[in-house]
Amino acid sequence: MIPVQLADGYRHFRGTRFTDEEARYRALAEGQSSQTMVIACADSRVDPATIFSAAPGELFVVRNVAALVPPCQPDAGYHGTSAALEFAVTGLGIRDIVVLGHGLCGGISASLDAADSPPQGQFIGPWVDLLSPVRDRVLADKTLAGAEDRQRALERMAVLFSRHNLRGCPRPPRLDRQIRRRMPWVCIASITCRVLVARILPLPPPMAIWPPAYWRLSLWSPFTCGGGR
Ligand SMILES: [Zn+2]
Repeated sequence: MIPVQLADGYRHFRGTRFTDEEARYRALAEGQSSQTMVIACADSRVDPATIFSAAPGELFVVRNVAALVPPCQPDAGYHGTSAALEFAVTGLGIRDIVVLGHGLCGGISASLDAADSPPQGQFIGPWVDLLSPVRDRVLADKTLAGAEDRQRALERMAVLFSRHNLRGCPRPPRLDRQIRRRMPWVCIASITCRVLVARILPLPPPMAIWPPAYWRLSLWSPFTCGGGR
């Protein structure tokens, strides 16, 4: 038996939203045509569909710990985020890609903690270790006063890192060109779901020469004020 909370929620859904929007759900049975892909954290507090008031079928969402886009590894591994990205771009033809990080992210905390001691668990360590190149830059930034500032800085560095991996990947050339044309957006949602959008430098430098405070080079504007790429 599924948890009572889910059973109650499902009953409520069938009796309200599904009934009200049955035509939409029936139409979606013919296929999805999402225009936007969102790469977000698995954190239960920051749900992209809720934040952006998206109806079913509107957002193609992939969620993982800390909303990371790993560097492209064209090998025999199981690359869930890359598979979702490939399908979104080549299968759905989505128009926009949004990387949505968030405040008080446990994955970001784990990355910072891992600088001193390995995280518990078999899979979390290697996953958050993806961030070590930018985490080490944040730790080298002596202008950051304490743990809270470092967390905030790495949350921003992490979405820039993901965007970098979206554009700097030796995927099949056709897919890579299509991703580049989409000029992915990067955003941070606070834990109260206020969204900031980064205005990225027109020609971002290669990550190898990112300064410790690279995230400060992007202008972070409230989403409701227009934002920017
Ligand atoms: Zn998170």
